[in-house]
Amino acid sequence: MNTERHLLTKNPFSRPGKALQEVKAIVLHWVNNPSTSAMQNRNYFESLKNQKFTGEEVYTSAHFIIGIDGKIIQCLPTDEMAYHVGAKLYTPEAVSRLGHYPNNCTIGIELCHPKADGEFTEETLGSAISVAAILCKAFELDPEKNIWTHHQVTGKDCPKWFVNHPEQFEKFKSDVRLSMENVSSDFEKL
Ligand SMILES: [Zn+2]
Repeated sequence: MNTERHLLTKNPFSRPGKALQEVKAIVLHWVNNPSTSAMQNRNYFESLKNQKFTGEEVYTSAHFIIGIDGKIIQCLPTDEMAYHVGAKLYTPEAVSRLGHYPNNCTIGIELCHPKADGEFTEETLGSAISVAAILCKAFELDPEKNIWTHHQVTGKDCPKWFVNHPEQFEKFKSDVRLSMENVSSDFEKL
């Protein structure tokens, strides 16, 4: 798999360096910035380290970003916490299954997209399915139960395409289940 590791520098805004408590779920996002590349989005996370504490700082990051061309960039190790689902309020389902601070038990995957409607390319979906299959295998997750949209965690309109096309999100999860059968037992952990 075509994965590049470009880990963020440790900093309070995008790589706090805290350990994940455990991995209970994978959460999918859209970058909400049409036609940007995986590397541009990774560099945005990196640039957050330059912020001053003004009271209006931005805290955000994710473990993986998948490009429109299917390129996979890993920004954080999978045993560290990212800031991808923080919110004032969580859905009742998220609170009951992920607890009161889902950042500490979830892995975030950001998906790039060509246009404002948020539709994903086949290349993006193919790579996202491969990454999710490896993560499900590594952390013993069930794709149908343990892959979430950001929308399911906080109600945010993210990833917009899957919020608007729930049947395609269901297909994504069943494709991950199929892809897990092809992950060999000595797979490379991400
Ligand atoms: Zn999101």
